[in-house]
Amino acid sequence: MSVIEVPQNSPFGRDNLPYGVFSVAGGAPRVGTRLGDTVVDLSVVLDDPVFAAPSLNPFMAQGPARWAQVRESISAIVAGDLPDNALHPVGGVRLHLPIEVGDYVDFYASEHHASNLGRLFRPDAEPLMPNWKHLPVGYHGRSGTVVVSGTGIVRPCGQRKAPDETTPSFGPSQRLDIEAELGFVVGAGSGLGDRIGVDTFAEHVFGAVLVNDWSARDLQAWEYVPLGPHLGKSFATSVSPWVVPLAALQAARVPLPGQDPQPLPYLRGSQDWGLDVDLVVRWNGEEVSRPPYKDMYWSPAQMLAHLTVNGAATRTGDLFASGTISGPGKHQRGAFIELTWGGREPVTVHGEQRSFLQDGDEVTISATAPGPNDTRIGFGEVTGTILPAR
Ligand code: MN
Repeated sequence: MSVIEVPQNSPFGRDNLPYGVFSVAGGAPRVGTRLGDTVVDLSVVLDDPVFAAPSLNPFMAQGPARWAQVRESISAIVAGDLPDNALHPVGGVRLHLPIEVGDYVDFYASEHHASNLGRLFRPDAEPLMPNWKHLPVGYHGRSGTVVVSGTGIVRPCGQRKAPDETTPSFGPSQRLDIEAELGFVVGAGSGLGDRIGVDTFAEHVFGAVLVNDWSARDLQAWEYVPLGPHLGKSFATSVSPWVVPLAALQAARVPLPGQDPQPLPYLRGSQDWGLDVDLVVRWNGEEVSRPPYKDMYWSPAQMLAHLTVNGAATRTGDLFASGTISGPGKHQRGAFIELTWGGREPVTVHGEQRSFLQDGDEVTISATAPGPNDTRIGFGEVTGTILPAR
């Protein structure tokens, strides 16, 4: 038996207790939590077969009362002596995609990002479309290509046509980009024809992950009119391996920056908070941006209320992402197309002028949020390296 040592100021302290799926050499994937630099095998310490599953879905499907009960049990268990066969150093495990992703929706909830992209894609028009402040704009993405952090990203090929070219051409994307986002995981779904109101957000949403919505801007610019993003996004979306429970983000709740005009009644309610999550974007190890989630215009509860207002059902494992997180400052922009203003204002990465991603580049997004008693809640990181086009 052993007691887990948690380094002081660890972002994986006793108030975080995220859930992930891990395996050790020769073992099957199962559910664990992380405390300091130790992964605790929940299939060993908790008597429920859902923790021996290769995804969080069976546990998430048990619903919010059970999530609260399990969190309380884990809190008590990790404070005491634990069997040695339940403990693994985090460096010695393989982390898997934590959820079996159902449907995937990506929103566009940052006013700064939407305005910047409007200026870049439609320089002669108003930066925000007339609907933008009335509803959280989004599109349905491709859930089958959501991959866990560390998965290599093959440079996509496709059609592109620059405004000054007369015909489209085919080839590897020349404007491969990132989008730093937060994603929300639906644990308990809703039926066909039903709605999830803003007030019942916490009864449905299990937790949050970091998302990198890799984006091929040249493919996107040519294909997106009039139906929105398609192949410029669907080749891969990376998520962090640890799902931070909503319960761990209580102290991170903040008021929204303010909505004018007031949204329609179905988009208002008591769970209309934002989250004070600080992200860091590193390009080949060098910090290039610090996007602040607290500046997001639409709340996670408004996104889910909007997503289901037409009666669309949701399922355990559905993932909806916030859209690129960008703050008002230049070094708070969560996509390279904004950070480098369409490639015209390159950033310096290890002494080199860079605008879009080259083969071999690695991008890592990490984040922390305030926890109780001046602690920090860590999301860990989502990372990926660009592989040459095939
Ligand atoms: Mn996105």
